Order: sequence, then structure tokens, then C-alpha cells
Amino acid sequence: MLMCKVYVIGHKRPDVDSIVSAISYAEYKHLRGEEDVIAARAGDLDEEVKYVLERFNFETPYYLTNAVGKKLILVDHNEVSQAVDGVGKAHILEIIDHHRLGGMITPEPIFVHIEPLGSTSTIITEFYLRESLKLTKEIAGLLLCGILSDTIVLKSPTCTERDRYIAKKLSSISGVDINEAGNRLLELKSLVAEKSAKDIILSDFKEFVFGKVRVGISHIEVLKPEELLKRKDELLQEMKSIKYEKQLNMIMVMITDILRLDSYLLCIADNDSWFERIYKVKLKDNIAFMPGVSSRKKHLVPPLVRFFTH
Ligand code: MN
Ligand code: MN
Repeated sequence: MLMCKVYVIGHKRPDVDSIVSAISYAEYKHLRGEEDVIAARAGDLDEEVKYVLERFNFETPYYLTNAVGKKLILVDHNEVSQAVDGVGKAHILEIIDHHRLGGMITPEPIFVHIEPLGSTSTIITEFYLRESLKLTKEIAGLLLCGILSDTIVLKSPTCTERDRYIAKKLSSISGVDINEAGNRLLELKSLVAEKSAKDIILSDFKEFVFGKVRVGISHIEVLKPEELLKRKDELLQEMKSIKYEKQLNMIMVMITDILRLDSYLLCIADNDSWFERIYKVKLKDNIAFMPGVSSRKKHLVPPLVRFFTH
């Protein structure tokens, strides 16, 4: 009998957490006897993700370019604007995530597991542990990298005690040292010098829709923000064209110093007063320094939601 496949898939412009969540959740389903589940991705992989897959010997997940008519399990996202094309006409079976609820509507009740934790990898590891399913060294290594990548090596404001506890557990199962792997991921994240402004902005770019307002936010995590700031004019120029192409009302680029956990925000908006009214910080020449700000989901999105939808 021909089985209808179920695709486990993360967001567009996949990061480590999206990819390892897809692979490990598909594996979790296999261990529970559901064979027709496969890991998928909604875009090309960056160097950080490629490194993680190679290190633990996993194949690149299947590239699903259009989800019309497909059965999906969404991991690491739940907003239509960030999901694979065709998601509106797909059959969504489950959502496993750690982001705000973004307005997805389903015709039937589905399984949803969303918690404010540092990564989706943490949630999936807890599923394995809860059911005493075998975590191989390789899967444990993948999941550990998912946590470390999403939490700036357990230092982000989104990181909780549970993430730290699970990371330690995964480190001992996989034999992977947290600092060694974490530093490697930070280095790879930080490799932006040779990339074009467009690639830098789009590598971790998420779109949000608040009523009629469309906002795009890029997050760049680097060891030396000053080097990237030298390219500010080039970045702003590129932001302008992306804003136009994607018909956004506001575009922001958050450049986070991953050692100090502070950020520079570049912004171009339809209305010049928005940024200051939303974040209570003045933009000067389209840039603002925001001490203590390092998370898109925790620091940038909530004030936007309040401003545009309340
Ligand atoms: Mn993600
Ligand atoms: Mn994540």
C-alpha cells in the first residue's frame, strides 16, 4: 500500500534548531512505529547547519518547495509568513514550537506543543526522555547543537534552566563538549565578512504580519559587530530594496554582539516615528544602539505586536 508521507518541517531560511528538530522528531516518530514520517526543510542550508549535519553524519533533509496538499508537522515556527510555500493548502497535523502564537487557523483540532523555552530541540529531547526512547549519540549531538545555536551557548535571555539541564544531559550522552561545540557554532554564525549585504540580511530573516502591516526582521549574531557596522550604508541600501521587493512596511536588522548580548538596530519604516514609539529609543541615521537586547522573539516582537495590533 502506498503510504502518504508526513513531512516534519521547520521555517524558511532554516537554522540549526529547525533542521535538527525536523530530523530528530521524524526519528522519534519512527521509534514509535510511524514509518511514513520524513524530515524536510524549507530552504537552503547555511554553513552552521551544514557543519552540524556533517559532524554527526546526517543527510540533508528533503527540500520541500511547495506544501500544497501535503501532510505537515511544523517544528520551530507556527506563522504562515515564515512557513514553506503552500502551507495554507497543506494539512497540518502537529506544531512543536517555542515562539509566540502567530495566528494559524486549522479546520480540525491538532496536536500542539508550544512552550517558552530556549529551543525546539529542548522540547523534542524531553519527548524522548519522557518515553524512555533511545537517544543515539548522533541524535543527542544534533539536539545539543540545536539548543546551543538558539541560545547563544546557553546565554540568551530565552534560555531557561530546563534548556541548561537538557543540554548537560545531551552533552553526556553524545560526548560532545558544550563549550567546544558552542564556540564552533558561534564562529560559524559570525562568518559574514565575505557575504554580500543581501545574503547577510536574508540568512536569518523572518516576516511578520500584524493586520495590514508587514514587518521583516533580520537577526545577525556576530563576535565583532563593529566590522559589520562599517558596511552600514551598504546594508541600508539593501534593506531598502528588500523592503520594496517584499512589500514590507518596516524592515529591521538586529546586529547582536554575542559576547556582550547588546544589539545595534538598523531600521527603515514607512513612518519615521514608528521605531521610537515602539521601542522608546531614538533612531539616528537609521541606527540605534540597544543595550541588553539580543532576542528577536523576546525583545523585538512583543512591542511590535502591542503597537500594531492593540
Ligand atoms: Mn529557528
Ligand atoms: Mn528555535
